[in-house]
Amino acid sequence: MTRLLVDTMLGTLAKWLRAAGFDTAYMPHARDDRLLQIAESEGRILLTRDRGLATRAPPGKSLHVPAADLDGQLRFVIEKLRLEMDAPLSRCLVCNAPLETLPKEKARGMVPEGVLEKQSEFWRCPRCDKAYWPGSHHSAMQAKLQAFFGRSSE
Ligand SMILES: [Zn+2]
Repeated sequence: MTRLLVDTMLGTLAKWLRAAGFDTAYMPHARDDRLLQIAESEGRILLTRDRGLATRAPPGKSLHVPAADLDGQLRFVIEKLRLEMDAPLSRCLVCNAPLETLPKEKARGMVPEGVLEKQSEFWRCPRCDKAYWPGSHHSAMQAKLQAFFGRSSE
């Protein structure tokens, strides 16, 4: 599985790559040297808006992302790295940790009452404790991911 690291300019892209299931590190306060170091030590491909930074990484270990808009960035990265989605919505969008199943009885107090009544499936981030469920935002996100990655994941 391709592991990624995005630079400070690509926070929104990071969220979407995580939504697609990719292990995507995002360190908004890290300097260039630190990003290069992390990419190397963790075996991540560095995605950056900065062409100069991209050329400082070893060949094949970085990708300069020219697009300024999210859709253009997603399309570019998926095509250049030939990404295939295989575990959508399996990671925390906030901190990148793989989500764990949250039993309904334990979801009480972690999700709004109305959601608890309507939903039967919940997930929890073991790192930041954020709770997830298949709400409307979730389906909209999944539809957009399907549109970008195609149907190859099914
Ligand atoms: Zn989290």
